[in-house]
Amino acid sequence: MRIDIITILPDLLRSPFEGSIMKRAIEKGLVEVHFHNLRDYTTNKQKSVDDYQFGGGAGMVMMIQPIDDCITHLKSQRDYDEIIYMSPDGETLNQKMANTMSMYENIIILCGHYKGVDQRVRDHFITKEISIGDYVLSGGEIGAIVFCDAIIRLIPGVLSDETSALTDSFQDNLLSGPIYTRPADYKGWKVPEVLTSGHFAKIEKWREDMAYEHTKNRRPDLLEE
Ligand code: SAH
Repeated sequence: MRIDIITILPDLLRSPFEGSIMKRAIEKGLVEVHFHNLRDYTTNKQKSVDDYQFGGGAGMVMMIQPIDDCITHLKSQRDYDEIIYMSPDGETLNQKMANTMSMYENIIILCGHYKGVDQRVRDHFITKEISIGDYVLSGGEIGAIVFCDAIIRLIPGVLSDETSALTDSFQDNLLSGPIYTRPADYKGWKVPEVLTSGHFAKIEKWREDMAYEHTKNRRPDLLEE
């Protein structure tokens, strides 16, 4: 997968891709991430990428010209599955969307700032708008990082234990149940006996039951789906 991120703050984006699972995915050659500084594409002398809103009102708006030039340049080099704009009024990101989008080959992610981008960018270039939740961030970068992490870990070969992502919360509409590690007895707080029984089938059954119970208590809505 190749991810092109269009941003005015490339430095803010870098470090999450330099550690942990996303770093490993890049090192294994399973994903390529490229940052494009919007200021490199502006034709205006002050290198500005935003301007006042038509009709007045507080807050600057990101201009269409640098975004058009950057996206057009990228599209001239390859086809993209989706051109995504991070936006609070977009479709709220969930695991099902992450599963689907982890199979894409090439995507562009546009990070907004200020009041957002000129509507004509959304009308003419953007094919998908994604929100990471019902709250407003100052910029699209942190949303883009959340989105990238969610999809990259699902690319086959990224997680060392292939089954690990499949048993995470939201796969099969279930939340993950409780997990334990050594010691089996800590200050008298014991690990459930079944887990140390060595009885594989019983352990599986217990895990399924716990996941179901946990989901019923916390997110009954998931069971209704
Ligand atoms: N005026 C806009 C908010 C702009 S916030 C509105 O009221 O809808 C500035 C930028 O931050 C947005 O362009 C978007 O790229 C990003 N952003 C803010 N909240 C977000 C969210 N919940 N999910 C994804 N991106 C978000």
